[in-house]
Amino acid sequence: MMMLREDTTRSHDGQWVFDRGTLLGLEPAHGELAIVVSCADSALQRPRQAAEDLLLEQLREQLTAGRHAPLPKIAASAWIVEKRATFLARPGLARPPNTTGSPKLMLAGDWTDTGYPATLEGAVRSGKLAAQALIASG
Ligand SMILES: Cc1cc2nc3c(=O)[nH]c(=O)nc-3n(C[C@H](O)[C@H](O)[C@H](O)COP(=O)(O)OP(=O)(O)OC[C@H]3O[C@@H](n4cnc5c(N)ncnc54)[C@H](O)[C@@H]3O)c2cc1C
Repeated sequence: MMMLREDTTRSHDGQWVFDRGTLLGLEPAHGELAIVVSCADSALQRPRQAAEDLLLEQLREQLTAGRHAPLPKIAASAWIVEKRATFLARPGLARPPNTTGSPKLMLAGDWTDTGYPATLEGAVRSGKLAAQALIASG
């Protein structure tokens, strides 16, 4: 997993790259990379091939700068577009607590009432609050 340097002036919209082959324990030669583009409106307005070429240009520049071997030719690619990936954190948005009314069933997830927007920190906080509520319920 590596953070990418986003540069909107060059349409280098990637923020993260994940080596899925390694993370999923597949053979290193599997070579499956996933690039994350949040707030992808401008990337999605470009023709798919142009957007992909720009992301690969960013990847080539940043991933292979120095330590890594050059990227091989890309054999296949796919886009996954999640239009409702996270909730919209509007002021006053009602979000559920961790408790459910059942002492043995708690909710955890970034969408619960964590005080944070939909983030990893919110998800961790929610998990901790759910575990504490479960322990407190005996
Ligand atoms: C493109 C993108 C970029 C993001 N970038 C950032 C970032 O840079 N920084 C940041 O802090 N946050 C970021 N986030 C938000 C962050 O990923 C989420 O807030 C966080 O992952 C939420 O964690 P969670 O455990 O609540 O839910 P999830 O991580 O969504 O986990 C829920 C799990 O439940 C599984 N599941 C769902 N339904 C079922 C079912 N019926 N049965 C079994 N399993 C099920 C899902 O497969 C998933 O594995 C990003 C999100 C997206 C989509």
